[in-house]
Amino acid sequence: MSTLYVVGTPIGNLEDITLRAIRILGEVDLILCEDTRTSRTLLNKYDIKTSTMSFHTHSGLAKIDKIIEMLKEGKDLALITDAGTPAISDPGSLLVSKVRDEMGEDVQIKTVPGPSALTAALSIVGLPDHQFTFIGFLPHKKGRETLFSKIADSKKESFVFYESTHRIEKTLESLKEHFEKVETPARKIYLARELTKMFEECLVGSAEELIEKTKADSNKVRGEFVVVVGPNF
Ligand code: SAM
Repeated sequence: MSTLYVVGTPIGNLEDITLRAIRILGEVDLILCEDTRTSRTLLNKYDIKTSTMSFHTHSGLAKIDKIIEMLKEGKDLALITDAGTPAISDPGSLLVSKVRDEMGEDVQIKTVPGPSALTAALSIVGLPDHQFTFIGFLPHKKGRETLFSKIADSKKESFVFYESTHRIEKTLESLKEHFEKVETPARKIYLARELTKMFEECLVGSAEELIEKTKADSNKVRGEFVVVVGPNF
């Protein structure tokens, strides 16, 4: 029976890959990569010679059919993305669900767990509560303000989302505005930035304090972010 392995890969530091992931990536017939050129750096580092094929958000159903065909032929495949765990704000979930629906028990879908920016950030934030809501990426336009209102209104809950360099300042301004509306301006926010990379850091403060910190040092808004909004006590 063929197997589709869903494999976690590093979120920055290329040493963050499991022994099993290296073995599986070397053993499968084909690796499906979000971007084959990006993944080549990782594959070269571990001397993995397996052929690659691109599979990304815009790949479409024809590509999924082709992948299912390969699995039906008995090929073992691995799915990786540019960084972290596939299907977590990344391509993968549609492929996995289609493979499940079409092949049922004729295929094994196995996880090869590895890093994710989500769990990496939470592990160094120290949330006082074990419950959190993961939003993924915030919507750019429609629903954005409603979501900020929901976060601000849910004072006792924690929220985690992914954010890019381009929007982080705007996002902090919006959080400040919405927290002021519900009189919780001091609610703590954690900006986990460039995790596992050279400039890794976790900035902590109210939205206003973080805006000040990032204004004082423009380097602080560079890179990739996980934003954690803590509860209000
Ligand atoms: N599937 C990935 C995972 O499991 O972490 C997430 C992919 S998503 C397309 C990319 C976003 O994850 C970035 O915009 C950023 O918000 C976050 N991210 C990825 N790597 C990161 C890192 N090293 N430090 C902080 N955030 C990171």
